Amino acid sequence: MFCRNCGKEVPKDSKFCSSCGQLQEVAIEKPIVKEEKDNNRLANILCSISLGLYFGFPILSVIMYGIAYGFSTSDATSTLSGFFGSIISILSSLATLAAYVLMIVARVKCPKSTYAKVVMWIYIVLFAMSLITLIVIIFACAGAIASCSNY
Ligand SMILES: [Zn+2]
Repeated sequence: MFCRNCGKEVPKDSKFCSSCGQLQEVAIEKPIVKEEKDNNRLANILCSISLGLYFGFPILSVIMYGIAYGFSTSDATSTLSGFFGSIISILSSLATLAAYVLMIVARVKCPKSTYAKVVMWIYIVLFAMSLITLIVIIFACAGAIASCSNY
C-alpha cells in the first residue's frame, strides 16, 4: 500500500509511514475488521451449538425414551426406564437453558451477527408459542372444570 500523505510505498501492516510519519488508516482498520470476523465466527459456533442443544436434545431424548420403553418388559427395567426418563427430562431442560445462555453470549459478544439474531427470534417465537399453548390448556382445563362443577 501507499502513504495517504506523501504517496511513498509503506509495508502492508505498518501503522505509520516510514517516510513522513503519517498514520496509516488502513493499518488501523484492519485489526478491527479481523476481530469482528473472529467474533462472527465465535457467534456462529455458539449459535450452532445452541441450536444443536435446543433441537437435537429433544429428538435424542425421544429416541432414548423409545429405546428405554421398548425394553421395559419386566418391573426392573420399567423402574430403570423411569429413572432414565427423569434423568433425560432434567438433562433436556438443562440443554434448553444452556441453549438460551449460549445464544445470549453470542448476542453479547457479537451484536452484529445475523445468525445470532435469527436464533434469538426463533427462541422468542417458540417460547411465545409454548406460553400461548400453556395458557390455552389452562383456560381449557379451567373451562372443563367449571362446566363439570355446574352439573
Ligand atoms: Zn508518508
